[in-house]
Amino acid sequence: MMQLYTPLHWFGTYYRMIQSNFVDMEKMLALFEVEQSVKDAPDAKELVIKEGHVVFENVTFCYDNRQTALNGISFSIPKGATVALVGPSGGGKSTILRLLFRFYDPASGRICIDGQDIRSVYQSSLRKSIGVVPQDTVLFNDTILYNIRYGDVNADEEAVIKAAKAAQIHDKILSFSDGYETKVGERGLRLSGGEKQRVAIARTILKDPPIILLDEATSALDTTTERQIQKALSTMTKDRTTLVIAHRLSTIINADLILVIKDGTVVETGTHEELIKKMTADGQQGVYSEMWQKQLHDENEDQSDTIHESDT
Ligand code: ATP
Repeated sequence: MMQLYTPLHWFGTYYRMIQSNFVDMEKMLALFEVEQSVKDAPDAKELVIKEGHVVFENVTFCYDNRQTALNGISFSIPKGATVALVGPSGGGKSTILRLLFRFYDPASGRICIDGQDIRSVYQSSLRKSIGVVPQDTVLFNDTILYNIRYGDVNADEEAVIKAAKAAQIHDKILSFSDGYETKVGERGLRLSGGEKQRVAIARTILKDPPIILLDEATSALDTTTERQIQKALSTMTKDRTTLVIAHRLSTIINADLILVIKDGTVVETGTHEELIKKMTADGQQGVYSEMWQKQLHDENEDQSDTIHESDT
């Protein structure tokens, strides 16, 4: 609760950091009523989610007047589907997630959830319906129990443990000296990237939102951790509409739909199987197919480096 007494100007700075890093801090924003760049409409209503059907209709957005970040993006994600966003750096993937979370409003076009334009609903009701798992989760300097319960402050300990089990982090927590009472964060036990991400997954499972935004970790994880994370993610995303920014294509081959985002537009769409066969109109390899080949090539190089190292 110490954070309550921190000067407000700090939150202005922090809010901008949250916008750019997409940290899961929506409740904190509400708590401190930080001056935000988007406002609720005077006649705003509660968002009513029946299915979690997300639609982007010709969405355009610029951070400043110099460059267009999104240039007429349209797509539709049916209830419970997982859509992966891939593409070169700076293409607009994070911007899509930021707009759906309503950190900013589109310059033109609209974003709807179950037919409701997200500009017409309370931000609080929108953010209550969306769970965010960022690449790098910020933990509070508090117990691991507190950090998971942050997903639903009214949850009892049993529910927290159930979420931790589903997120594949329970056994790890029990190995800490004080179990769920272990202090974590900057001033406590430092967790690894893979552990922090599983805490974020446990938080989101506890929050139980119909829509999930996931920014996959870029860093390579060891095989066991990778397997645990994948298992946790598939539990979390089951029956929930999910948008995932994927940095490693191998993790999204089972996505219901892949959107290839480049220069603020959707340049290719399809499943993994469809996209690896895709050619451009002038007979060149498609963007996804080229990315896939490059990733396979890089993985082979890494493996042969390992073999050579073990030869020496
Ligand atoms: P990456 O894979 O590197 O995370 P991305 O596909 O998520 O990239 P975005 O972060 O959405 O791309 O960026 C889209 C464009 O908007 C880029 O040209 C980027 O430089 C610009 N941009 C992103 N954030 C901001 C910001 N806060 N202010 C100004 N421009 C920004």
